[in-house]
Amino acid sequence: MTAFTPLTPEIIAQLVTILGEANVSTARADIDLHARDQSQHAACPAEVVIWPQESRQVADVLRLANEQRIAVTPWGVGTGLEGNSIPLHGGILMSFERMTKIVAVHADDFQVTVQPGIGHKDLNEQLARYGLFFPPDPGANASIGGMLANNASGIRTVKYGASKDNVLRMEVALADGRLIHVGSRSVKQSAGYDLLHLFVGSEGTLGVITEATLKLVPVPTFMSAVVATFPSVNAAVETVVAVRGSGLDPSALEFVDAAHCAMLSQTEGIDLEERPTIFMEFQAAQEDSLAMGLEIVKEICDEMGALSFQSTTDHAARKKLWHARHHSYEIMVRSHPDKQFFINDVAVPISAYPELIAFVEDTRRERGVPSYMIGHAGDGNVHVEFPYGSPDEYEQALAVNSLIVMRALELGGTSTGEHGVGIGKARYMLAEHGEGLNVMRAIKQTLDPNGILNPGKIFPDGAEH
Ligand SMILES: Cc1cc2nc3c(=O)[nH]c(=O)nc-3n(C[C@H](O)[C@H](O)[C@H](O)COP(=O)(O)OP(=O)(O)OC[C@H]3O[C@@H](n4cnc5c(N)ncnc54)[C@H](O)[C@@H]3O)c2cc1C
Repeated sequence: MTAFTPLTPEIIAQLVTILGEANVSTARADIDLHARDQSQHAACPAEVVIWPQESRQVADVLRLANEQRIAVTPWGVGTGLEGNSIPLHGGILMSFERMTKIVAVHADDFQVTVQPGIGHKDLNEQLARYGLFFPPDPGANASIGGMLANNASGIRTVKYGASKDNVLRMEVALADGRLIHVGSRSVKQSAGYDLLHLFVGSEGTLGVITEATLKLVPVPTFMSAVVATFPSVNAAVETVVAVRGSGLDPSALEFVDAAHCAMLSQTEGIDLEERPTIFMEFQAAQEDSLAMGLEIVKEICDEMGALSFQSTTDHAARKKLWHARHHSYEIMVRSHPDKQFFINDVAVPISAYPELIAFVEDTRRERGVPSYMIGHAGDGNVHVEFPYGSPDEYEQALAVNSLIVMRALELGGTSTGEHGVGIGKARYMLAEHGEGLNVMRAIKQTLDPNGILNPGKIFPDGAEH
């Protein structure tokens, strides 16, 4: 494992030369603000926080850090849920909060080129005037760099794909200070190794994204939101599989358990029954086809034993529903002030989803471990949220979580559908990838031989080489 060099006044002075004094801070407040993300993992302070404003500065800092053997952890806006951006080995915390420009809108090509620090919600606000949007939609206003580095998804992934499906080209700064371009603006690309997707999902451990060209889609003309409730969790998740199999192409298909529904009713003022529920969204270019689709969805839900079915095309009602869904995790956390939470995000092929959910239900009941469930069911993805109030409770929850992860792997799935490996899922990487993990180590060794980039993440031993 690399022995990292502690920062000296000389190195800080070199950082100031590269970035300017206003973009380098060793102030306690700045260090503390960047010491942990939104996960349960413990805070860890960097030695300095820097805010580059252009690609060249990023590359120059990396060259310096590589020569001096200093750890560098990229930071988007710190909404990660797996400790991905916690600077475990101190060193430099490289924040992208000041690289937020839209470089170019290529409206005729349905593309936009951005700096990595821009929030996806802020980007979509700017794009509204072109009638376009970037579809991956995690609840938080995550940065584009953080989304690409984690391969984040969201409620609309069931229709539009994850971050990896919506990026065409990136500029990446390598550990040795080289700046490279990966991918191209052509939607078809077949020229050699797919380096673009090597960096997507690499959590800042292989290179630092300094610019990205993203795919956009037109804002849909007609949309409806549907809420259907069911007598059992199984009936709800079987309905998810049936809707996916119907060819109806929902733009969101979410499972929300009874406890979340009760909490959202109380806090968000939406009228939800305390039952296993699915939230859906459908989009269409014509009003008639939207109405026809809704009829079919209602038939499916009725056949599956739905207790209630409500749909709306009203903009304000739809917005309220998705706002509540987006904030459901924060609301859950807020309503348990005496507890901490951790959240898992296993995913399986859609046909195995009911079996996975049944396993979660049985296991948590048998072990007597409290938890809640919500998830991007249309993608076969579930979040089991575990509250805990003591180290013992945390260990019990971790044990149940490990059983769930192993079951997901047996069902052909993954330990993480969207939050990334970070700190907490490193323990599952060998089980998930086997010998493939050694190939990942070899790639890491090639691109970052001194192990300076986001050390301590992804690999189970916390040592990348
Ligand atoms: C309420 C809430 C709801 C959420 N819902 C979802 C959801 O539905 N789906 C989902 O996928 N996630 C969700 N998340 C998690 C989170 O928003 C995502 O993981 C997101 O990708 C993190 O982006 P960020 O900008 O906050 O990055 P950070 O958390 O700051 O960093 C994430 C990772 O990216 C790296 N990184 C950041 N910028 C760069 C860069 N320019 N180059 C290279 N590496 C970089 C960091 O080192 C780190 O490894 C949610 C989080 C919250 C708090």
